[in-house]
Amino acid sequence: MLKDKRLFLFDIDGTIATGEKLYDGTKELLDYIEEIKGKAIYITNNSTKSLSDYVKKFSIWNIKTEESQFVTSGFMAVRYLKEHFPEKKIFVMGTQSFLKDLRQQRIQVTESVEKDIQCVLVGYDSELNYSKLEHVCEILSTTEAEYLATNPDLCCPAPFGFIPDCGSICQMIQNSTGKVPKYLGKPAKEIIDYCRNLTGFSREETLVVGDRLYTDIACGIAADVETCVVYTGEATREEVKNTKYMPTYEFDNIQKLFEAVRG
Ligand SMILES: [Mg+2]
Repeated sequence: MLKDKRLFLFDIDGTIATGEKLYDGTKELLDYIEEIKGKAIYITNNSTKSLSDYVKKFSIWNIKTEESQFVTSGFMAVRYLKEHFPEKKIFVMGTQSFLKDLRQQRIQVTESVEKDIQCVLVGYDSELNYSKLEHVCEILSTTEAEYLATNPDLCCPAPFGFIPDCGSICQMIQNSTGKVPKYLGKPAKEIIDYCRNLTGFSREETLVVGDRLYTDIACGIAADVETCVVYTGEATREEVKNTKYMPTYEFDNIQKLFEAVRG
């Protein structure tokens, strides 16, 4: 039930904002969550921004946040690598700023084909080139390295429409090597488990809010919590009629969700 929700896990793009524009109703909903002593956490598959970038972005909207309120697919990747490959050599395909972030987190990043690579991590890479793709294919075809990727999203919004995201890059690699990565961003249920552990809220008190069915809504379903789709981004009412990722609730926008939650 909506009135029981305390932990709100929001997608960002297409859910509470588009680019620089915050949607109406977001602030009211966030104030309400504070009032009921709940918690808002922003879970995003975008791995190109750091946690401090997000705190800055939100402050422009006059929303005060802490880094711990942002869980990105890059953050989940660092957690995974630290747990499963401590001090091991990781081949990373991603933007220079993503690589820099990983190095700052003391991940041993390489961009060349070397001995002893334990793992390949593919992120959204707007600096992608053919030799990077060749390197990934060579490592996946000739070694037992584990194959990870930040997020399965096929496309991300651009001013004129859409451009390929990490999932599309991984499809190119799959067509050549037959290998499919383990994705660490949404819909991996570990993200929601992490947020619940961080805050101590129960499954019943948790709501995932998003605009994309195969990541946002699928993530909530995988973690066995209720989900809410908003129609300000990718998903359409038509699509939701026939999806295998059926949301618990649907609203036109975040303002309508706020009105329903407040009762
Ligand atoms: Mg979205």
